[in-house]
Amino acid sequence: QPTYIGPEQIIDKRKAYFYPCTQHFYQKPPQLVRGSMQYVFDEQGKRYTDFFAGVSVVACGHCNEEITRESVRQLQTLQHTTTIYLTQPMVDLAERLAEVLPGDLRRTFFCNSGSEANEGALLLARMYTGKSDFISMEGGLHGRTNLTMSVTGIPMWQTDPYLYPGVTFIPRPFDHKELHAQLSENELTPAARRSLEALQAVLDAKGDKIAAMIVEPIQGNGGIIVPPKGYYREVKKLLDAHGVLLIMDEVQTGFGRTGQMFGCEHFGIVPDIITMAKALGGGVPIAAFASTDTIAAALSKPSASTFGGNPVSAVTALAVLDYIERERLVQRAAERGGALKSALLELQQRYPAHVSDVRGEGLMLGMEILADNPTRGAALVDQILEQMKDNGILIGKNGLNRNVLAFQPPLIITEDDVQSMVNILDQVLAQIGESNVS
Ligand code: PMP
Repeated sequence: QPTYIGPEQIIDKRKAYFYPCTQHFYQKPPQLVRGSMQYVFDEQGKRYTDFFAGVSVVACGHCNEEITRESVRQLQTLQHTTTIYLTQPMVDLAERLAEVLPGDLRRTFFCNSGSEANEGALLLARMYTGKSDFISMEGGLHGRTNLTMSVTGIPMWQTDPYLYPGVTFIPRPFDHKELHAQLSENELTPAARRSLEALQAVLDAKGDKIAAMIVEPIQGNGGIIVPPKGYYREVKKLLDAHGVLLIMDEVQTGFGRTGQMFGCEHFGIVPDIITMAKALGGGVPIAAFASTDTIAAALSKPSASTFGGNPVSAVTALAVLDYIERERLVQRAAERGGALKSALLELQQRYPAHVSDVRGEGLMLGMEILADNPTRGAALVDQILEQMKDNGILIGKNGLNRNVLAFQPPLIITEDDVQSMVNILDQVLAQIGESNVS
């Protein structure tokens, strides 16, 4: 039995050796020492059901035996060579991705993180179009490198004082005032129409300078924002008319999370470039950007990644894709997600004073707390997170004001897990309601 130093000493060491930018959830965070499918365990042996999955990473569960067996076998056989030597897992994975990616997206460049995949996609768009600038959306999160931070539309993640200036942000197709708009198929909300007008205006003014627009099909960190169905079709039409590429950042939404293999499928469009990371490796670092033969041809100067697509990551990703397919995790995400969303909507009806909205697709769901008083909402969200944790459930939070509870569990989550989480959330919301009567 290993000895654990415990949460307090870990916090002390983080303070001593990390940069002060490093944050953690919870006033009393547990030390996590072990994971098994939908559960993680702390140093005391306490079990938590993981409803955040390391921000959408462990789609197939923690330490999934079938997948880790493959990773370990590869670790013990051939761990690393760099991409200049020929190895099979990497080409097998590229071929496999070409099968699951939508449309003609069948060229893949492998790298190691979501930031790196987006940086690569932005470079590819510049090489292909010969243009320098970008359009992005308020509330989007795309990474930590200079360029990906420059296209990130969340002020708290824009640390660099010297961001690339050639980025124009358009508003999100989302407005709290329109939360309960009942839309027919293809109908756009006023917010979506305003967003498209802003896009049109940017393209008219400087479309000849713009290489690409980058968006998350459904925003994750921005607070689980789902555009109306027809929105991206209109976006794509406008971009096509100006020779501007559409990059979809599927780092969070990819590989079944939203109840479709890729988030773009909800909107019936195929972007020019898709970026992916997180769930692809199920916890092992791997990322990629994919595009068509024609666009990919623009990236012809030598470029290589030391670790990108290394045998261990590639074999793991292949095992992840096998598992997702065999266990029908995309359909399961849609089914479980539907049930969870209905249960959360019921809680909204029971606690209307605190719960302003429930939204999302598949197992990428958000519950907004106190939309009209987000500062207090964020404080309540922290309180809810802490109490859920004490009751053995880890959930997440996001949103521009950090007042949205995030439910993004492993896709293998069971009906029972969902039911017990909802029961506990019900109790926590009831207590919060009682202790916050004004
Ligand atoms: N894009 C999205 C949509 C993300 O959610 C994230 C990380 N949360 C990133 C990009 C950056 O990925 P990474 O941390 O792997 O660089």
